[in-house]
Amino acid sequence: MEQSFLIKPMLDESYPVIDYGKGVYLFDMEGKKYFDAASGAVTANIGHGVQEIIEAMNEQAKKVSFVYRSQFTSEAAERLANKIAEMTPGDLNWCFFVNSGSEATETAMKMAIQYWQEKGIQTKTKVLSRWVSYHGITLGALSMSGHPVRRARFTPLLEDFPAIHPPYCYRCPYKLEAPSCGYLCAQELESAINRIGADKIAAFIAEPVIGAAGGAIAPPKDYFKVIKEICEDHNILFIADEVMTGFGRTGTMLACEQWGIVPDIVALGKGMGAGYAPIAAALASEKVMEPILAGTKSVMSGHTLSANPQSCAVSLAVLEYLEKNEIMKEVECKGVYLRNQLEKLKNQFTFIGDVRGKGLLLGLEFVGDRDRKTPFPRKTMITQKIISIAKEKGLLIYPAGAGIDGVNGDSIIISPPLTITKREIEELALLLKESLEALS
Ligand code: PLP
Repeated sequence: MEQSFLIKPMLDESYPVIDYGKGVYLFDMEGKKYFDAASGAVTANIGHGVQEIIEAMNEQAKKVSFVYRSQFTSEAAERLANKIAEMTPGDLNWCFFVNSGSEATETAMKMAIQYWQEKGIQTKTKVLSRWVSYHGITLGALSMSGHPVRRARFTPLLEDFPAIHPPYCYRCPYKLEAPSCGYLCAQELESAINRIGADKIAAFIAEPVIGAAGGAIAPPKDYFKVIKEICEDHNILFIADEVMTGFGRTGTMLACEQWGIVPDIVALGKGMGAGYAPIAAALASEKVMEPILAGTKSVMSGHTLSANPQSCAVSLAVLEYLEKNEIMKEVECKGVYLRNQLEKLKNQFTFIGDVRGKGLLLGLEFVGDRDRKTPFPRKTMITQKIISIAKEKGLLIYPAGAGIDGVNGDSIIISPPLTITKREIEELALLLKESLEALS
């Protein structure tokens, strides 16, 4: 290819040019086939080239592709908001559409602050979060993110939001086990609130299953119950960052449903458009909207392309596709099958320290010494090596894990399209096995 002026992630690397996608596969211009075992970045949740979505895009494009949110609404946006309200738990009835996960978490943060302002409380402006977390790349979202590597360059611009340890049981800072640990990592939230002052804190944000920063770290059973109780006791809103986990990734519309928790505010993204269009959202409960409806009567945020009809039509078609094909129902079963294959790999390769996750959001953590859980030395670049060998063999997996100190945690995420078949799970496991064998 001639000189390219496209800014790619690594400017000194060349990237295959993808020609088309079908189901779990992508095909490049040279005819090489890739198994998309990460759904891109946990996004292509129903696979590539789904005809129904393409038709919905075309139908909407024939009518209108753009209307500006302060002038008009659209049938697609109205129907999508109502469908999401119907499919989510509790009274998470209100939906603010944006275009990326980072915008969704920032909007969630702003909604929480506005909620308290409308109630006459101006001091509650902080949003607490956890280390080993990722809430997005824009500055507000990055402030909330406990991801040392991504924060490093911009530290002077960031607020100091990460306050507590995550429920990273494989590397428990207390060297205890759940549930007998008494969920000390969740109790840390109470200590942080007491230290900072509940009168200064608007909300606490957490990913139900930690994604990019940790590698599919699912919490122990009652963790979120404890977190929610602490938030309620101290008048702090709970924001669930379901950008990666929402829209069925763990087998339910929201991952929080797995633990019987209804957040006050939810951030959605990624699987919402399943890669067919950029769309994300912040959902708010009736409780959060009540003072806003009675006060300013406007959520003080918004983007030019918020509630874009084209993106909304895509997201609606994704939801209808998930429903019609009863895809969420099968996620748990498929997840267990895939996990069993990963456990088999753990038996074979001693450098796999942990297999974890929920539904079809699974992760592997690599260690230099399994008994002592010692990470590989940094210079080994183990995750990058595995990812590039796998790509060479035609398998796409997602890097994760910056760890608490930016050192521990060499992980990958395996998160194929939810539409994956049993045969394809076996093919994925074989390709991964071959990639790991090529490393050892
Ligand atoms: N929140 C979570 C949990 C994510 O995993 C991500 C992206 O990986 C984001 C927010 C940011 O989303 P986006 O990259 O669409 O801005």
